Amino acid sequence: PEPKSLHFIEEIVEADLASGKHGGRVLTRFPPEPNGYLHIGHAKSICLNFGLAAKYGGATNLRFDDTNPVKEDVEYVDSIREDVRWLGFGWKGEHYASDYFQFLYDYAEYLVQQGKAYVCDLSEAEIREYRGNFHVPGKASPYRDRAPEENLDLFRRMKAGEFPDGSKVLRAKIDMASGNMNLRDPLMYRIRRAHHHRTGDAWLIYPMYDYAHGVSDAIETITHSICTLEFEDHRPLYDWFLEQDVEGRFFQRPLPRQIEFARLNLTYTVMSKRRLLLLVQEGHVKAWDDPRMPTISGLRRRGYTPESVRAFAERVGVAKRDTVIDVGLLEFAIREDLERKAPRAMAVLRPLRLVIENMAEGEVHWLTLPNHPDDPAFGTRQVPFAREVLIERDDFREEAPKKWFRLAPGAEVRLKGACLVRCTEVVRDAAGEVVELRCTWDPASLGGDAPDGRKVKGTLHWVSAAHAVPAEVRLYDRLFTAEDPMDVPEGGDWRDTLNPDSLEVLAGARVEPSLAEVAPGTRVQFERLGYFCADPDGRPGAPVFNRTVGLKDSWAK
Ligand code: ATP
Ligand code: MG
Ligand code: MG
Repeated sequence: PEPKSLHFIEEIVEADLASGKHGGRVLTRFPPEPNGYLHIGHAKSICLNFGLAAKYGGATNLRFDDTNPVKEDVEYVDSIREDVRWLGFGWKGEHYASDYFQFLYDYAEYLVQQGKAYVCDLSEAEIREYRGNFHVPGKASPYRDRAPEENLDLFRRMKAGEFPDGSKVLRAKIDMASGNMNLRDPLMYRIRRAHHHRTGDAWLIYPMYDYAHGVSDAIETITHSICTLEFEDHRPLYDWFLEQDVEGRFFQRPLPRQIEFARLNLTYTVMSKRRLLLLVQEGHVKAWDDPRMPTISGLRRRGYTPESVRAFAERVGVAKRDTVIDVGLLEFAIREDLERKAPRAMAVLRPLRLVIENMAEGEVHWLTLPNHPDDPAFGTRQVPFAREVLIERDDFREEAPKKWFRLAPGAEVRLKGACLVRCTEVVRDAAGEVVELRCTWDPASLGGDAPDGRKVKGTLHWVSAAHAVPAEVRLYDRLFTAEDPMDVPEGGDWRDTLNPDSLEVLAGARVEPSLAEVAPGTRVQFERLGYFCADPDGRPGAPVFNRTVGLKDSWAK
């Protein structure tokens, strides 16, 4: 195979390795904020960070970016650990930005003492107004020239709880005229009397993301700090905070380098944790791991394999410009993986009874069927075939159109792996609904084909009515009908295009008996229908299946 060309981050890492910049070390980090479940965009970032480290003999830290006290929760921390592990990655250090609160505070005091930070009494609104905008240079805060001693005293008193929330902030003293808004004396600390899920009530002041993030990277001696494109304009600030350690008292050199890449966006879904949380809270989906969600836990419950998600991330590549990826590419990845991995079985989603009149009652043929058509390693299983079978309602048409190779009055079809049957009579109920088909079978075709070699084009899946196990099958469709739900017309809402038919529950499905006690998470291909995954809602004798994806891309174009 042709050697794959390097993406731009690999090029940077290789150049650093060649120059010996970090002494041959590669240490990346994945820094989620524990304020929601991870989604497929995070999976991209995880694969990139862990993948790079693995490729270059390095390691990756898992860091919970928990500097914002109010929105975070242990439930999220646990789910994040589970999801990263499920994707197949192990981390070196597990860290919490909150563990660095004291360090961050000490370094902030140092910046204050160096005249690089000051306590500002302007309100949030005033700070915004003074900051100006791209066309209007900023105006200095009247508190900008406070002496370092006064700032230190005030900052310590902020920490000690002498001032109410919102009355003062600590700001970096950089450049109010900068063309980069991020450098116009950004906030470093706010006063916030909020309970933190790890530090409790120990802190009344909390560091801002831009300050905490780079410092956390430097504390951990991260070599390459990979983030998404919207932080490109924050890079000078990232560097500025670390470079103020002029005496080298706080950080090891060389300092980490921030590198930005394009975030992953997918069609027909939304991907911000805030919006995903709303979908859960407002009941549009059942939970974070609802199989319709683009979360890692949702994909897992839907039946995605870690390998398919990793292959998808690989295929998407690493870009410098934002792109929207067709969700069909994700579906392609799982179909490709399951084609090789999923054993086959038979299930009938909307059953129609078919009675073979020339077979004796109580007669049962135990057929030995391969679990995978191309891979003998999957072995075989015993499937009962008897006088009454169930076929898919869709596979019968009374008025058959041209080229209809499935069942119709008088027509002959093959029951997969069993025999040929011919429809002789259609039985209806009082309302005129077809409730049963009467057929005859050709016993000489047991095994699938007629010895006389006559051609039968249609092959149907089926289950034995007496042996089949009742199952619930959940079919999923796109969660939104719009390719970009965020692209809403004036006055609209991103929830306007939620697909009302994104879930269809088939309560009367029947599956072959081998699936009666299937373990949750088991993946299987139902012949002719698609790939399915056993849901944890199932019980022995009453399994529940989620459709992961159909066999072909059936989404109407
Ligand atoms: P969201 O806006 O969805 O809540 P976030 O960026 O706030 O995402 P974080 O918990 O901060 O979520 O993300 C952790 C890491 O995952 C960050 O490094 C971030 O850059 C990366 N990440 C988040 N979303 C995506 C995405 N769609 N594509 C690629 N990387 C992402
Ligand atoms: Mg973030
Ligand atoms: Mg966010």
